[in-house]
Amino acid sequence: MGKKIQLVYATPEGELRLEPELRALAAAGEEYWELTGDDLIPLPPGASLFCLPERQPLGLEDATGEVAIIDEPGLTAVAAILPQGYTRTLLPAYRRRPGAPPLPLFGYTAVAAMDGDLYVAARQTDEDEKWNPLVYNTPDLPGLIQKKLAAHPANRILRQLAKCAREYRCFTAQNIFYRRWEGGIPVSPGCNARCLGCISKQAAECCPSPQGRIAFRPSVAEVVEVALPHLSAVDAIISFGQGCEGEPLLAWEVIKEAITALRRETAGGTININTNAGLPDVLAALAGAGLDSARISLFSADPAAYRLYHRPQGYSLEEVGASIDRLRRESVFVALNLLVMPGFTDLKSQMEKFFAFLAAHPVNMIQLRNLNIDPELLWERLKKGGLDLSGEPAGISTFLAELGKRFPELLVGNYSRAVPKHAE
Ligand code: SF4
Repeated sequence: MGKKIQLVYATPEGELRLEPELRALAAAGEEYWELTGDDLIPLPPGASLFCLPERQPLGLEDATGEVAIIDEPGLTAVAAILPQGYTRTLLPAYRRRPGAPPLPLFGYTAVAAMDGDLYVAARQTDEDEKWNPLVYNTPDLPGLIQKKLAAHPANRILRQLAKCAREYRCFTAQNIFYRRWEGGIPVSPGCNARCLGCISKQAAECCPSPQGRIAFRPSVAEVVEVALPHLSAVDAIISFGQGCEGEPLLAWEVIKEAITALRRETAGGTININTNAGLPDVLAALAGAGLDSARISLFSADPAAYRLYHRPQGYSLEEVGASIDRLRRESVFVALNLLVMPGFTDLKSQMEKFFAFLAAHPVNMIQLRNLNIDPELLWERLKKGGLDLSGEPAGISTFLAELGKRFPELLVGNYSRAVPKHAE
């Protein structure tokens, strides 16, 4: 008889409680999933726990195996938000109280307890050395920010990154001040998509966007002033396309001129772009200028689901495929930033479409991103859009195993790598 896997919930004061009578339950899409030891890993360092307001905890009755609800006023379900390097495999199970507002944009993960310790339904899918929260927000950071701002008082990008580092605690903003690893350079106030889970501008009106979007388009000189010193840092990557901006391709002239100017000065580091890849010609032009890598966000390789989630303006999944092919022809390292949602990504129909897309448009890497959105809001929008969500989810672990089996050469992880010049 395996260890008892207990339901965890929270009191109105936010204190955690274990329910002795109920076994822990999780969800994949709208399906309930009884948690087993195989589904769980210990709560990773750097994870956060959230009470889910107006969401009543659900568990399984020991005796009957029936789904039961903890129906006491003020008691709420609990979820974990995982640090980088971990991919969620199951969602928390709860019942939303009528009229409850949507949950904010986070990647909610199922939590349970065994022998009094906390566990989550997740897999470690990458090393977290460079993304461990313990190496950020350190006591020396404010001084480093102040020093850089004093050295470049007129640089609007640095002022934006100081705000992102301090207020949003953004790691790629902080890395510009720490002068290491992946540093972000926002350049675009506009976007040619309206993703449901956009964190910089909530066109989906689901909830406040956690970050403001920049309101200026920087000059080439401002970009070079920030990027050049960073490219000689340890494992340096500069990334256009950050959480505080729209689509960087809409500022391509600035990026192209900046890459040209940077590569005149140094061959060091990796120049990367995080993009929706809706403009293949523009991406090909940036590749010609010296772009090293591109990370392309993708919710689904099903054209209908892609349209419903990303709500592209003036392009479609077809252009995304064309962008990948053009970039690979230019030997740019291409990663797909797959927005993972248990109960959707692992639907057989979605898995087959994704694998077919990968076969048609080969890439170098899959980055797994826990999709930050209220799951119920997402199902509602997808169903309202007429998407067929039927079928039993296979499980995210099964999806990952199948991905590895079908594409053994593919690098799978959670974040961008410094890539050697023009990866073959
Ligand atoms: S492409 Fe990026 S900036 Fe544009 S709507 Fe989507 S998430 Fe937001």
